[in-house]
Amino acid sequence: MCGIVGAVAQRDVAEILVEGLRRLEYRGYDSAGVAVVDADLELKRVRRLGKVQELADAVDAQDVTGGTGIAHTRWATHGEPSEANAHPHVSGDIAVVHNGIIENHEELRATLQERGYVFQSQTDTEVIAHLVEWERRTSETLVEALQKTAAQLDGAYGTVVVDRKDPSRIVAARSGSPIVIGFGVGENFLASDQLALLSVTRRFMYLEEGDVAEITRRDVKVLDVDGNPVEREITESNAEHDAGDKGQYRHFMQKEIFEQPRALINTMEGRVTDKAVVTEAIGVNAVDILKKVEHVQIIACGTSYNSGMAARYWFESIAGVSCDVEIASEFRYRDFVVRPNSLLVTLSQSGETADTLAALRLAKEKGYMSAMTICNVAGSSLVRESDFAFMTRAGTEIGVASTKAFTTQLAAMLMMVVSIARLQDRMTEEREAEIVKSLHELPANIEKALAFDKEIEALATDFADKHHTLFLGRGEYYPIAMEASLKLKEISYIHAEAYAAGELKHGPLALIDADMPVVVVAPTNDLLEKLKSNIEEVRARGGLLYVFADEKAGFEGDENMKIIQMPHVDDIIAPIYYTVPMQLLSYHVALIKGTDVDQPRNLAKAVTVE
Ligand code: GLU
Repeated sequence: MCGIVGAVAQRDVAEILVEGLRRLEYRGYDSAGVAVVDADLELKRVRRLGKVQELADAVDAQDVTGGTGIAHTRWATHGEPSEANAHPHVSGDIAVVHNGIIENHEELRATLQERGYVFQSQTDTEVIAHLVEWERRTSETLVEALQKTAAQLDGAYGTVVVDRKDPSRIVAARSGSPIVIGFGVGENFLASDQLALLSVTRRFMYLEEGDVAEITRRDVKVLDVDGNPVEREITESNAEHDAGDKGQYRHFMQKEIFEQPRALINTMEGRVTDKAVVTEAIGVNAVDILKKVEHVQIIACGTSYNSGMAARYWFESIAGVSCDVEIASEFRYRDFVVRPNSLLVTLSQSGETADTLAALRLAKEKGYMSAMTICNVAGSSLVRESDFAFMTRAGTEIGVASTKAFTTQLAAMLMMVVSIARLQDRMTEEREAEIVKSLHELPANIEKALAFDKEIEALATDFADKHHTLFLGRGEYYPIAMEASLKLKEISYIHAEAYAAGELKHGPLALIDADMPVVVVAPTNDLLEKLKSNIEEVRARGGLLYVFADEKAGFEGDENMKIIQMPHVDDIIAPIYYTVPMQLLSYHVALIKGTDVDQPRNLAKAVTVE
């Protein structure tokens, strides 16, 4: 799930490996390690629990030299975070790093123990090290040994192997977790993400599912799943070196909106197979906890609160567990009752939100079954102080108005909901496979939503001179309307409110006139007919409507009702999808108004004060 870096070079590579790990730190990890073969064909292995900086200091202190090495940041799934469980794992002359999960590790472990292998860690990964060591004995090459090993592994993995007796090469296999090879001049590299290698190369080749590769200083050979040599395309990357660079975009917020397809791929990577959610990947003990959970208490602020509100519909309707969502600053100052088997879930982009952190500290004393955080910043206070953390991996978010943190939180919670439903026998395998399919289609669907940028830009002029806007939705689209209204307030300084559309007649209908645009999130679903009646209530009073719907919804626009017709997407992921046009709308309104989009007045990114 986390980071892999490898290198075959003439120069010393320890520093390159550690720098690569640093670039992958944002993904979250609990320990890090490196193994380099030195001139005497000795394997120098250094591992540390905690930050990459601690590993870097240890590597410096131990003067690790050598041109061939592998490195890893670990996000524990099997076995606690500890130095002994940190990668690389070693068996004889073989050292291995691995991302992902080996599902059949227990049976493989038993077989290997019968063969006399003594396990040094609790990880699933260690079976790979021993298997390669075993197969190497009867194979002509290291690649062959890895091919034979890969054929015995079930699960999702990306793995890289080095043999200390032959430092001229490293070998790698990909099945479910990405491996990218980076081409240098007289040296070659690999990693789990090209970001790790941007300081040494821009030329990359991605392995495909089932590929096994051999990398030497001068050559890269790839074999496909059937063992046939294949050529994979080499591409030149123009990715930015640095998250702090706006690149082609005018604002960070705009960049972050457009990064959402990639961010969602990162959120899901290694956590979903083609049919199922990999619950172990949610965190150590996640399976035990999610099996038992009867109630979920979400605590958050701002945008994160809105995502919790949306996910609540899923927790109750799909997973069948009750769910409450509360604003952290309220929760922390009231007496609350903890229900049996209740899981506390904090949501925060930064992991430093003071109110949320205080709520977590307080709640920990009150007897929740466990405290989990869904967070975007590795090593942040919420991550450190929670029992386990599910990192959203959206990448650095700089714009104060949160965008990709919101959509990735929703994807993370959907995975969690599916896990609970399956573990508690409330979901068939078929339904899980359908939801997972929708999740896989989500990044491409977000691209489709982003294609509405121009249309929404044109629409934004209608809003820029208004003083108020009303956002309406029903069901899980009500929190999407809440998030839309928060975005508009934050960056355009236009007063906006969100209502559950059924509430209109209980008060806000009095506000409707031609000066108050009303935005409706109206995808086709069971509540559409009810929502249509609410829309009629607005129309009858001369309101100006902007309806975001899909082609199946059958709306016909007129002078007072503009229809933004989006391609239909599966119901389950539609709340995430409909968030995107709302983000674009507030962005374009703010542009017209000329506000400071990335740093709106009076607001801060990480709200570390009460
Ligand atoms: N399952 C392996 C472990 O727990 C690898 C985790 C990872 O992807 O970092 O060590």
